[in-house]
Amino acid sequence: MEKIMPNRLDRGFYMYQKEFEDKALEVLRSGWYVLGNEVKCFENEFAEYIGAKHCVGLASGLDALWIAFRVLGIGAGDEVIVQGNTYIASVMGITMNGATPVFVEPDEYFNIDASKIEEKITDKTKAVLVVHLYGQASNMTPIVKLCKKYNLKLVEDCAQAHGAKFEEKQIGTFGDIGCFSFYPSKNLGAFGDAGAITTNDDKIAEDVRIFRNYGSEKRYYNKVVGANSRLDEIQAGFLRVRLKHLDELAEEKKKICERYLSELYNDKIQLPQIRKGATHIWHQFVIKSEYRDELIKYLEEKNIGTIIHYPIPPHLSEAYQYLGLKEGALPITEEYAKTVLSIPLYNGMTEEEQTRVIKALNDF
Ligand SMILES: *Cc1c(COP(=O)(O)O)cnc(C)c1O
Repeated sequence: MEKIMPNRLDRGFYMYQKEFEDKALEVLRSGWYVLGNEVKCFENEFAEYIGAKHCVGLASGLDALWIAFRVLGIGAGDEVIVQGNTYIASVMGITMNGATPVFVEPDEYFNIDASKIEEKITDKTKAVLVVHLYGQASNMTPIVKLCKKYNLKLVEDCAQAHGAKFEEKQIGTFGDIGCFSFYPSKNLGAFGDAGAITTNDDKIAEDVRIFRNYGSEKRYYNKVVGANSRLDEIQAGFLRVRLKHLDELAEEKKKICERYLSELYNDKIQLPQIRKGATHIWHQFVIKSEYRDELIKYLEEKNIGTIIHYPIPPHLSEAYQYLGLKEGALPITEEYAKTVLSIPLYNGMTEEEQTRVIKALNDF
């Protein structure tokens, strides 16, 4: 039996093969390859999709994060609140500017526990970074309220949640800046690296636009020390193709996850929950099990691959030993790292593949 991989990016290509190939040829023949018309069109279309005033295309999701904090003026001596159980890029976006991450435990939906933010606010706190992890929108109402009360910047890491909503409002529009990744495995994926920020603030959009191109608005007239974080025309073109289909792609993933939610039944496995008022765009379908490591082995024997998102929380990674946080500092985060497991989920997943995954998990 063919192995079921945790993700299959080729399926997403073949679904719209002709459109992607036509777009590639169109861009190749245009003679313009970086920051051009495709980028401009994608920025407008994505801003409209999200309901933000501006979108600025960048080279990756990590760039979106660190450039966001840079243009907000957050750096050495400042603290930024972020959940403990995130992908390490969220934290690097903070520390690349010299700022210090202050970790908050997650809730039962794998997102930041809004009731535990206030106790972490000090006179050094400058911002909250909310990560809409696995595709589910975070509990935004209390977070927005806290940021207003303490005059904190609010940045959203939307790398896993393109199109998710909290109380009918799109994520990426709640705070000062929304940061998106279009890495190939994301729900809106390019065929290489790409990212963007969204904002309703004209000045922030302008600053990011200048920053991404060596700090210059006019060629060779540099206003600030910027970076090279430009978006390619070919990736922007591919993203325009995929964006047109994003709602139907999300619907397909939702159907698969509804099957998982209604047909998976095993008391050794806990299924993901959805918060009232939030939508989930199912970047990952993440289960929890005390028997996770045996479960992984068992599924491997059945030719079913899985991934752990993420086995080592940032505060325990080698990279962040300098923060001085030891095991036990974030018990819920650490428990999640030991028990979470992402089961196969991708666009173009066949019903037989879904059934094989369900049957294997129920038989465990
Ligand atoms: C993928 C991801 C990023 C980083 O995006 P890249 O495009 O890979 O740089 C940041 N945060 C989260 C939550 C992600 O999943």
